[in-house]
Amino acid sequence: MDNAQAKLIVAIRHRHGDKAVIDDADAVAPWLTDWRGRYQGKAAAILSPAATTEVAEMVGMARAAGVALVPQGGNTSMVGGATPPADGSALILSTRRLNRVRSVDPAANLAVAEAGVILADLHDAALSAGRRFPLSLGARGSATVGGLVSTNAGGTQVLRFGTMRALVAGIEAVLPDGSVHDGLSALKKDNRGYDLKELLIGAEGTLGIVTAATLRLVPAVAARAVAWCGVASPAAALTLLRRLEAQTDTVESFEIVPQVSLDLVLRHIPGTRAPLAQAHPWHVLIEAIATATDAEPPAALLERLLGPALAAGEVVDAVIAASEAQADAFWRLRDSISSAEKAHGPAVQHDISVPVDTMPRFMVEAAAACEARFHGTSASGFGHLGDGNVHFHVRAPAGVDADDWYAREAPRITPFVNDLVIAAGGSISAEHGIGQMKLDELERLSSPARLAALRAIKVAFDPDRLMNPGKLVALAPRAVAP
Ligand code: FAD
Repeated sequence: MDNAQAKLIVAIRHRHGDKAVIDDADAVAPWLTDWRGRYQGKAAAILSPAATTEVAEMVGMARAAGVALVPQGGNTSMVGGATPPADGSALILSTRRLNRVRSVDPAANLAVAEAGVILADLHDAALSAGRRFPLSLGARGSATVGGLVSTNAGGTQVLRFGTMRALVAGIEAVLPDGSVHDGLSALKKDNRGYDLKELLIGAEGTLGIVTAATLRLVPAVAARAVAWCGVASPAAALTLLRRLEAQTDTVESFEIVPQVSLDLVLRHIPGTRAPLAQAHPWHVLIEAIATATDAEPPAALLERLLGPALAAGEVVDAVIAASEAQADAFWRLRDSISSAEKAHGPAVQHDISVPVDTMPRFMVEAAAACEARFHGTSASGFGHLGDGNVHFHVRAPAGVDADDWYAREAPRITPFVNDLVIAAGGSISAEHGIGQMKLDELERLSSPARLAALRAIKVAFDPDRLMNPGKLVALAPRAVAP
């Protein structure tokens, strides 16, 4: 820890009390590694403000001391976004104590939640007011509102409700100079020029610290049905999606799962079982909902729509969950894929998007190209087919040393996959962001115009380059006058 950090820690503890600083090494340690275990950071302390005013004061004090800050919510980033630099040059600013749901207004369909509110708790708060927050993902027990906003998170309901960008109606944030942007009003119309809210969404903590957000709610679910279908190919899956979309707007989730991912879940996640009797090359999980009690029950709707799809051969076999417990069990299979693959062994993972209609061909051709090029690997994508977004994993050959294989092969595999993505008109980050993991590839594959604009925005907000350095935008640290 350098002198400036040491003095800052003392000053913050003096001003905001013991709870505002965690500097016990054992308590800090779990927050220095990313969820995937790829990045190991170093930080002398975690700052833990309990109110927006405290965030503003801490950011102002850190700026005056020239100390960099890494905003951290649930630390579930898939791209090392919340992991501090390895050289110990930054402190973590955790939002864990900013954890109040300030209001839920069912009439206006809005909730105001602080940055550290965990997604599952937000779901519960909305539900207790007869509403729901229509964004969910596998990390809902840890991911926070601030992290979700700052990564423009997606998840399993984007098909119907869009990403966080579509669900954030207002933002409160502390900017890098310590000033507070109070933009929580949910204005339908606001044409005061550049939209700070939109700039802060997806900024990955590089433009300031989100302290609270006004979030859009929708009516609670009156009934839902979850179906699990076996299909022959991603193309058949997309044909099925188009069939459903043509006849109903109640399908919220449409997730594709290859047999290989299902096998890994069944092997590594206790208590899981296959929904269908036979193996199929691909599977689709579909959730349809009704918000009105007098609407056609979603199970009846899915049965009515899947019947012709089975007859047409688009679906080979299907089962509709007979109970809420079974519906949850189907979802558990889908939500456990990342954990199962992590337990299985190393994989080079890509969170990518291409135009929806291009995705089936991309999934098949890119997997074949990877397996041909990188001997012994197996490649496949799973996830949000209806959004044109899959998590495309290239798994290591059996028996290799995990760390050695990853260090050697990831730098070859990722550019290969990303080149295929760009050739297909896609994006190398569909929902996880850039963090530190994709920084080089963003630089390599972005136009000069895009890179220049990103840098200009970053430097305009954060001229001292102290806000989450080394993430999203590649910039040299500012030279400090001797
Ligand atoms: P963190 O990991 O703590 O931080 C993420 C980024 O946001 C970092 O750059 C951090 O500096 C910044 N940040 C955090 N809080 C703030 C704040 N208050 N102000 C400013 N910056 C901040 N993501 C998806 O989009 N869709 C999925 O389907 C999905 N599934 C996942 C499944 C699993 C099992 C896991 C582990 C992750 C998944 N993710 C998914 C990724 C992750 O959950 C999201 O990126 C989530 O939004 C991160 O929230 P967090 O609170 O953990 O943020």
